Amino acid sequence: MPCCNKQKSNAADGFNFARAVYALRTGKGLTSNEDAQQRWSECLECDQFDKGMCNQCGCHMSMKVRVAWAKCPVGKWRPVSEKPTR
Ligand code: SF4
Repeated sequence: MPCCNKQKSNAADGFNFARAVYALRTGKGLTSNEDAQQRWSECLECDQFDKGMCNQCGCHMSMKVRVAWAKCPVGKWRPVSEKPTR
């Protein structure tokens, strides 16, 4: 899945796809459900959100909002402390 390395903003905001997959597969470094929902709500209201993806970073947001250290490329939400939920 090419979503996390195809645009400049990913490098600029430090998002690393392999690290995100590791977090999702192991449950280490995930947000709480509440934090993920808060991020998702921000994305749903954002004009950069299109069909589940962010036009700024090119990421699939249903996945990215679950990764604790991820952040919005335009600063609408920030990294949160790691709270494994699995
Ligand atoms: S990550 Fe940021 S810019 Fe991208 S859709 Fe979500 S709120 Fe908008």
